[in-house]
Amino acid sequence: MITIGVDDTDSEYGLCTTYLAATMMARLEEIGVVRGLPKLVRLNPAVAFKTRGNAAVAFTLDTDRPEEAKEIALRTVLELSDFSGPNTNPGLVVAEEVPAELTIFYRRALHEVLDVGEAEEILERHGLWSRSFKNRRGLIGALAAVGAEFSDWTYELLAYRVPERWGTPRKIDEESVWRADALTYPRTWDTVDHRNRKVVFAPHSGDPVLFGIRGEGPEPLEEALETIRSEAYERAVIYRTNQGTDAHILRAEISEAAEDGSYRLRGVVAQGAKPIEGGHLFFPLRAEEGNSAINCAAFEPTKNFRKVVRSLLPGDVIEVYGAVRRGTLNLEKMEVVALADGVDQKAPICSGCGRRMESAGRGQGYRCKRCGTKAEGKVLAAIPREIEEGFYEVPPSARRHLSKPLVRMRGEKVHPSR
Ligand code: ATP
Repeated sequence: MITIGVDDTDSEYGLCTTYLAATMMARLEEIGVVRGLPKLVRLNPAVAFKTRGNAAVAFTLDTDRPEEAKEIALRTVLELSDFSGPNTNPGLVVAEEVPAELTIFYRRALHEVLDVGEAEEILERHGLWSRSFKNRRGLIGALAAVGAEFSDWTYELLAYRVPERWGTPRKIDEESVWRADALTYPRTWDTVDHRNRKVVFAPHSGDPVLFGIRGEGPEPLEEALETIRSEAYERAVIYRTNQGTDAHILRAEISEAAEDGSYRLRGVVAQGAKPIEGGHLFFPLRAEEGNSAINCAAFEPTKNFRKVVRSLLPGDVIEVYGAVRRGTLNLEKMEVVALADGVDQKAPICSGCGRRMESAGRGQGYRCKRCGTKAEGKVLAAIPREIEEGFYEVPPSARRHLSKPLVRMRGEKVHPSR
C-alpha cells in the first residue's frame, strides 16, 4: 500500500491538480487498486501564492509494483503540469507508511504559512520518496495531503471536461442545475445561490473542471449528477474532503489572532459598521475583557451578508469566523450571541394623541402641535433590531472552500444563506 500526494501543478492559465490526480489514478489502476476515495485537501486559505483555493490531493494505492507506480505518477506530473506558470511549483510525495508527524504537518498547514525547507526535513527524516520542481513549494501541500486526517469531512464530485473543450464556454443546462438543487438540498449545497439567482458550482476559467457538486455523501452527489444536463465530460471523480468543515478555524482570544491564521473570536461590537468605497464594510470588535480589538471586514462580494453586518450595534456580543489578512479579519460567518438593547434619544410621545412631539425651537423643549402638550427634553427609545441571535453566513457565491456552511450545523439557531 502506498499513499501518493501531489500539489501545485496548475496555473491561473490552465490545468488543475485534481485533474492531474484523477488522470494519475486512472493510469495507476493498471498496476493496482485505488483504496477508498481520494482526499481533496484544502490548506491555509490565507497563503498568498495559491492559484485559487489552495487544494492538494492524496490517495492510497494497493500495488505490489511501487517503483513502477512512482514512475507513472512522475510521468503524469511532468506531462500534465503547467510548467509555464510563474507560480507553478509541482511537488509529488509517495509514502509506504504515513508517519504520525505528517498529520501534525497537515494541521499546521491549515493554520500557518510554512517553509518548504520544513517539508524537506520531514521527507528526509522519514526517508520518503519525493520529486519537486522549480522552487519546490508544492512539496508542502503534497506532504500535508499525504498526512491529512479529517475529524469531520464532506464530499465533492468533480466532473472534468474533454480536453478538446478546455478554454471554451461551458455548456450546462441551468434549469437542470436548479432542479438538481431542489432535489438534493440540504444533502448537497452551494450548487446555486438563491438570493443572488446564480449557478455557482462551475468555474469560468479555462481549467478542466466542468463543475463540482458538494454534499454530505456520495449518494446525493450522484443523484444530483444524474439530474444535471451538460456537455459530455471525460470523467467524474468523488473526493472525500475537509471542505465545509471549518478545519482551518482555531478558537482564540482576540489578542492571540495572528496574521494569516483563521479564527473564531468572541467580542463586543465597539462601533457600528462603516462603509468604504466599493461597498466594503468594516467594524471594530473588542475583547469582552482587556483592551485588545480587531477590525472585521465584510467585503462587497459577501453581498446580502453585509445587511446583517450593517445591523450590528455597539454592545452586541458576537463570535466572528474568518482569516486575518493585513490585521483585518475577513468575515466568513458570525454568531450573534447577545443583542444589546439598542437605545436612541428621541422626541417624547404626546400623552394625548400618541404621536411623536416636535421641537419647539432651540432650547425650548418639545410640543405637540395638535394637543398643545409640552415636554422638556428627549427621551430614550428602543431601536427595533433587524437581526436575531444565531448564526449568519456569507452567500454560497462568496464561500471559502473550508468554511462550514450553516446547513451543516445541527442543533444551532442558524440563518442559512441559500
Ligand atoms: P488549485 O486550487 O487550482 O489547485 P491552488 O490554489 O491549490 O490551486 P496551488 O497552485 O496549489 O494553488 O498553490 C498553493 C501552494 O502553496 C502550493 O505550492 C502548496 O504547497 C503551498 N502551500 C499550501 N499550504 C501552505 C502553507 N500552509 N504554507 C506554505 N505553503 C503552503
